Amino acid sequence: MGFVLTEKELSKNNAFKIEINLSENIPFTLSIPRDENVLQINKGVMQGEVDIESLKLELSQKFSININSIDFRINKTNKVFVEFSSELKIDQETIINVLQQTISQELPHTLRNKDTKKPLIYITNDLFGIPLIGSIYFGVIDRGTNLLQIRPITGCPLNCPFCSVDEGPISKTKLRDYIVDTDYLVNTYNSIVAEKKLKEAEAHLDGQGEPMSYPYLPELVQKLQENENTKIVSIQTNGWYLTEQLIDELAEVNLTRINLSINALSSSLSKKLSGKGDYRIDKMLELAEYIANSKISLLLAPLWIPGINDQDIEEIVQFSLKVNSNETKYPTLGIQNYLTHDVGRNLKGIPQKKFAEFNQQLRKIEKKFGAKNLVLKPYMFNTYKTEMIPNPMKINEIVNAEVVLLGRQMGEVIVKAKNRLIHVSDVTHFSLGKKIKVRIIRNRHNIFFAEAV
Ligand code: SF4
Repeated sequence: MGFVLTEKELSKNNAFKIEINLSENIPFTLSIPRDENVLQINKGVMQGEVDIESLKLELSQKFSININSIDFRINKTNKVFVEFSSELKIDQETIINVLQQTISQELPHTLRNKDTKKPLIYITNDLFGIPLIGSIYFGVIDRGTNLLQIRPITGCPLNCPFCSVDEGPISKTKLRDYIVDTDYLVNTYNSIVAEKKLKEAEAHLDGQGEPMSYPYLPELVQKLQENENTKIVSIQTNGWYLTEQLIDELAEVNLTRINLSINALSSSLSKKLSGKGDYRIDKMLELAEYIANSKISLLLAPLWIPGINDQDIEEIVQFSLKVNSNETKYPTLGIQNYLTHDVGRNLKGIPQKKFAEFNQQLRKIEKKFGAKNLVLKPYMFNTYKTEMIPNPMKINEIVNAEVVLLGRQMGEVIVKAKNRLIHVSDVTHFSLGKKIKVRIIRNRHNIFFAEAV
């Protein structure tokens, strides 16, 4: 366990002085802000704090330690220690376990998403007790193919002005974020793979937001790959959290492909389209090349916004041909057509191209640069149709459902019924754990929306 432990008999009261390096033994980044009596806890985008007095109280009660002798401190190298005096020798592993338990109980009350600054709800099996199916925000989505969408986290560090789901720090509609326990997500994936009898499943990590902000990404990829029927694990990302180290870690656990969205090659336009002044396209291109040279396949997925990044699209195609010409398994470019949205953010005055026209333009680019497969088809990714998992609720059906979670939008709650999660909007009176009657108004792909009746 690597404890730093000092035991010395104090001459006066014959007590042991115990000192433990918490930074080495608790799997989070810890700190104690100056003049505050809290232990700050970080892991990737997860950020929270625990009152030091409650940790002291727990230690004092569990081990009969004089509370006044307990001290939490941070040293010059930012390592956090706890120290106290005790008349008994106490097993240090037990102390760490007690502190970890207290932290896991207290942390959910203060957990926030560092990117969006919104409350972050940690979703575990205990919260719902059913498979994670039914929500557009998190869990697993089956759209009737061998590809299952895996959604581990919501929220995004970028502020793209065209974001179809209004994500990022400037979001006006999203009140909170969610993060899902890795095992809960993987168990749901495994159960759907078994139910569909898939032999060549693709686990595709995406989401409303940036899936690469999930702090347990390598563990998640590894566990998805452990299913013997998983053939591909792929991820959609804007690249903000990519580093060479993370790429190495993901290659190590056999991530198959990264779909990286970059929308412009000039510094000023890429900052504008990401909504971030500190967005570094030069760094992003270096990382794209690093992926192309790793065993992970790379697909560049720019959004073509007519009249805004026409020139950049051609340059991105040329960049891809230059750095990613050795890729043979999958298409290397997935140029997206700009679409306008009823909800979400739109760029003013940019019309939406018809798909026939869009595909024609892609064919022209193929010819101009000798690029292949710009008009994508599912077979190019080994994606094929399968039976969908059963849909247990019909449109207009009225069901008795239990409220299990606050939704992401004002007035929205998440309820559960018939082994599925359901979004219900405009709910004014409710309390968690109580039953309400809802009418199903949308049930496509086992993603459910309902209204209260
Ligand atoms: S990266 Fe995607 S989710 Fe994030 S703000 Fe941009 S479009 Fe929205």
